[in-house]
Amino acid sequence: RNLSVRFADRRGGIFRRRSTLAIHDIDLDIQAGETFCLLGESGSGKTTLASAILGLHPFHAGQIAHNGSTINRSNDTAHQRLRADCQMVFQSPAASLNPHLTLQQSIEEPLGAKGMGSSRRRETVCELAGLAGLSEDLLGRRPGEVSGGQNQRACIARALSTRPKLLVLDEPLTALDAVARQQIVALLCRLKEAFRLTYFLITHDLALASQIGTHVAVMYLGTLVEQAPAASFFAHPYHPYAQALLSSVLRPGLWQGERIVLHGELPSLRRPPDGCVFHPRCARRLAVCTHTAPRPRMVGGGHTVCCHLFNGRPAGNDIREQRQ
Ligand code: SF4
Repeated sequence: RNLSVRFADRRGGIFRRRSTLAIHDIDLDIQAGETFCLLGESGSGKTTLASAILGLHPFHAGQIAHNGSTINRSNDTAHQRLRADCQMVFQSPAASLNPHLTLQQSIEEPLGAKGMGSSRRRETVCELAGLAGLSEDLLGRRPGEVSGGQNQRACIARALSTRPKLLVLDEPLTALDAVARQQIVALLCRLKEAFRLTYFLITHDLALASQIGTHVAVMYLGTLVEQAPAASFFAHPYHPYAQALLSSVLRPGLWQGERIVLHGELPSLRRPPDGCVFHPRCARRLAVCTHTAPRPRMVGGGHTVCCHLFNGRPAGNDIREQRQ
């Protein structure tokens, strides 16, 4: 609830410390058993949000509720309990495995940390490797000696070793070729059923989100602009940024309207625009958008949009109409 994260940075002088608001006032609910997809372009704050939830990065405001306990920014014990139920699979499998360790050693590392004996560890690693579709022959190899898909299977096996309830998947397919991508997607779907997992999938791949997502949230420049059940979102995205994202997917049937081309770049988090952070790139902006940030509004069926166009009565006139 209202989760915000700041990054300290140095600007305008060698040791003049300032901070950048990386994510701002994020509200979301992840229900057990769902595949919650967090969408948005690079730099929108998706990984920062996941890191804050897992306690890999401190948050400076807001709170996280988990299994009846509330985690505030100073409540580290509650955060440790949350971490015990979560694991993360990172986007670059080779970079998230120690290049000096064999896959066997990497997968069994968390088991050792939990105090499991060495012979039981070896058995468990073979079992996990089998579940992740990783041949036992490969367990003695190092990350540089196997393919990207095999490394990602090792990362998934390692993540499952502590029997988590929530798996954070941070762009798990980015570094893989097309065949390996399909294999990993099928594997993730199988494991979700077998282990009754909940997925928090971070991706900019809308086709993947439409394939496996049950709930979707869209981030732009550190803020959540739309969230909805996946069926509702893909049937009718409301936010102009979400529509542009969806129109860019080269997959028939996902977007019925004309292609929407966004102009300009994602602004810097150090100097976010006033009002709606998307207004410099929004073709539908109103006068109010330039100075007042919109609040999230329910547009029906658990579908929430953060845009002045859906505030019931627009609080300003369309800038394009004013110019004409
Ligand atoms: Fe566009 Fe205004 Fe909606 Fe922002 S609030 S997305 S600028 S119409």
